[in-house]
Amino acid sequence: MTNKNQDNKMEKIVSLCKRRGFVFPSSEIYDGFSAVYDLGPYGVELANNIKNAWWRAMTQFRDDVVGLDSAIFMSPKIWEASGHVKGFSDPLTECKKCHSRLRLDSLLEDAGIFADEKMSEDEINEIFDKNKDKIKCPNCGAKDFTPGKKFNLLVQSNLGNFTGDWSKEPTYLRGETCQGIYVNYKNVLDSARVKVPFGIAQIGKAFRNEITARQFIFRTREFEQMEMQYFIKPDTQEKYYNEWKETRWKFYLDLGIKEKNLKWHKHENLVFYAKEAYDIEYNYPFGFKELEGVHARGDYDLSQHSKHSGQDLSYFDVTSGEKFVPHIVETSAGVGRTFLAILSEAYTEEGEGDGARIVLKISPKLAPIKIAIFPLLKNKPELVKKAKDIFDELKLIWKCEFDDNGNIGKRYRRQDEIGTPYCLTVDFDSLENESVTIRDRDTMVQERIDIKNLVSYFKDKIEK
Ligand code: ATP
Repeated sequence: MTNKNQDNKMEKIVSLCKRRGFVFPSSEIYDGFSAVYDLGPYGVELANNIKNAWWRAMTQFRDDVVGLDSAIFMSPKIWEASGHVKGFSDPLTECKKCHSRLRLDSLLEDAGIFADEKMSEDEINEIFDKNKDKIKCPNCGAKDFTPGKKFNLLVQSNLGNFTGDWSKEPTYLRGETCQGIYVNYKNVLDSARVKVPFGIAQIGKAFRNEITARQFIFRTREFEQMEMQYFIKPDTQEKYYNEWKETRWKFYLDLGIKEKNLKWHKHENLVFYAKEAYDIEYNYPFGFKELEGVHARGDYDLSQHSKHSGQDLSYFDVTSGEKFVPHIVETSAGVGRTFLAILSEAYTEEGEGDGARIVLKISPKLAPIKIAIFPLLKNKPELVKKAKDIFDELKLIWKCEFDDNGNIGKRYRRQDEIGTPYCLTVDFDSLENESVTIRDRDTMVQERIDIKNLVSYFKDKIEK
């Protein structure tokens, strides 16, 4: 696809998300609220299915990872210990003409100049000064900017603060979910039957004061993360790091993402404690961008929390008699970024003229609605009743939708656009011979199936 078509594809996805109830801009009736989005009826189903797939892959299909749901608010001391209060920042610049606030590392990167959000203010400003003539404001085209300044991304709140002064003793909305895992590591160790190596998985909201939030749900100020921290013996890092890289890559293939649309990006400029860091990038309509990080974090996190809390967070290995602070391999993915990758992958336009259709070829596992059930005609009570009976049976197992509105062709098109893999129609023959027509979303082929065999038929199709 050319760049123009890709831009177009993004617009089409955004429009479909609104039109069909996947994603709504926040606070729309009040002119919106920047960089925050709401999930509509089909969006919440898709997001839940993504989270379920991840949760099952982490905590159900393996016996060495347990789950956790820590609170969004935590002691502010955690964010001091983790380094976020001092160092969780992106370089900010402002266009002197239109006053847009922009992320300096992204501006440089877009102009083909290597930069990293982890560089110091002086380092990045030096690169900025050298390349000033190459950098234009993406909003007005001007080339006049303020010097880069580090801007902290932590979102503050007044929770539990009754002084009336927001700046005193701020509490923070968590900037990442994994800190809740580190500070509960000992609780889990003492209560669940786990031994190193083991992992703790968590899905939850995180908040960041992103400077430029662009590209729809790719970068938002409130978002959801799916993070897993794997606690290991220090000398086993290479083995587990490679295993997790492989596992996480395969996860996306299992969700139906084509391998050619994924790539590894190695971090060249590692934060001082990181041992190795790669991101899995997905080929979004705006190019390859980070979908998930797989990072070897050494013992930084537990050591910091041990130092700041005064608690011993080391592990005693009863078999070898060794005592050590576990090292960590982390996998950290965004729900919104996975959601957008799934939609980009699935969005398809087919046919021409009357036969033209938009279809979301989402894997049945993730599809918001698995089966749509139609009576052929809505004014024939026998058909409606039979279709309702089938709906009442299948809804106990899968998310189904009953629809008796409009002609069958229109009902098919609507289900195609929300990615429903199977449409089931009850017609006059159904009353005679207890069978129904099932139409496949991707091939549009229809087959006749006996009503008594529907559950096993769909089990095979949806859960395989
Ligand atoms: P980026 O470089 O794109 O800002 P990051 O390296 O800061 O991302 P991490 O801190 O590693 O991201 O977060 C882990 C994952 O959380 C990311 O891979 C991404 O999927 C998700 N994520 C991070 N920030 C956002 C955001 N603002 N909006 C949506 N998802 C996000």
